[in-house]
Amino acid sequence: MRILVTGGAGFIGSNFIGQSLSQGHEIINVDKLTYAGNPENLGSDYNHKNHMFYKEDICNKQAIEEILFRERPDVILHMAAESHVDRSIDCADDFIQTNVVGTHQLLDASLKYYKSLTNKNKFRFLHLSTDEVFGALNETGKFNETTPYCPNSPYAASKAASDLLVRSYYQTYGLPTMIVNSSNNYGPKQYPEKLIPLMILNALEQKPLPVYGKGQQIRDWLFVTDHVDALLKLISLGENGESYCIGAHNEMTNLSLVQLICNYLDEIHPVQSSYQNLITFVSDRPGHDYRYATDASKLAKTTGWSPKVGFQEGLKQTILWYLERFDVLRVKSEARKRIGLG
Ligand code: NAD
Repeated sequence: MRILVTGGAGFIGSNFIGQSLSQGHEIINVDKLTYAGNPENLGSDYNHKNHMFYKEDICNKQAIEEILFRERPDVILHMAAESHVDRSIDCADDFIQTNVVGTHQLLDASLKYYKSLTNKNKFRFLHLSTDEVFGALNETGKFNETTPYCPNSPYAASKAASDLLVRSYYQTYGLPTMIVNSSNNYGPKQYPEKLIPLMILNALEQKPLPVYGKGQQIRDWLFVTDHVDALLKLISLGENGESYCIGAHNEMTNLSLVQLICNYLDEIHPVQSSYQNLITFVSDRPGHDYRYATDASKLAKTTGWSPKVGFQEGLKQTILWYLERFDVLRVKSEARKRIGLG
């Protein structure tokens, strides 16, 4: 299958591309390369014969149309977004531009391309969204596809707006779309402003581990390869016009998660005192949602998907990946100093 991925140099995108290429798919990767996008995330996949990279902004409708008509994908997987809640609280401009305006431009270009296809049956537009569009849960219950939207952060609001645009293009124009509302992902290649990589890298550098409030917020963690597996299944088995929630039943408070990271680091990379001593409580994030948990039973029923990577295994794999990267960076920086490059 020919899959056009937007945001393929980011965290989930680069993991998706690695897995898809190994399954024989052809990838057209459209990414603006913001601070969060890095071609190095693609490693040797960047030069893979079935990977074509375009540095482009999804807000540039004309350029996107040209790429679509030249490359003729069967599927569009839309992952490009501004994705960090804290940045959206500081300033939401880029979130509205990329997540709302960009999604609209991409939908328009995709509709024009879709209308031109003689065989329309294969075409799909998958939009990657978040469970944060549903707002916050109390102690019990889970989000599912019928939960009303109630976004609390500018990031979540911009994703909610993009979901509604995607839905409207299905209802109004018949563009075959699907929406995927995923819980928090973790794994290798995530930009180190997000909780798990931030804590791992700060710990390795013996810097404070900043935990918001009392660290009692609960998140439902999904290993990125399990998410990618679900997306690949939805591409062939999902139903147009539907949305699907994904989560892996790994609910944990932020504090327990940071403590677990510290315990594993104490085991894998011990230093003089426990990493737990670096934990520091900082003022809570404004509008911080208390709990997220997602019910993935519709996805499981439609595609047979279930998560394969247990939380302990996934977290250890993630820590090892960052540890290796940290060592490489340290060795490189020491080498640069030795040869006088600063
Ligand atoms: P990321 O921030 O790691 O990557 C985003 C990518 O999009 C980057 O490569 C960036 O360069 C690119 N990009 C940004 N603006 C662009 C633009 N205007 N044009 C083209 N490319 C642009 O994000 P991620 O964590 O990989 O998330 C991917 C998608 O999944 C996002 O839509 C996000 O909202 C959603 N999502 C993420 C999570 C998570 O836990 N990471 C959970 C649920 C949903």
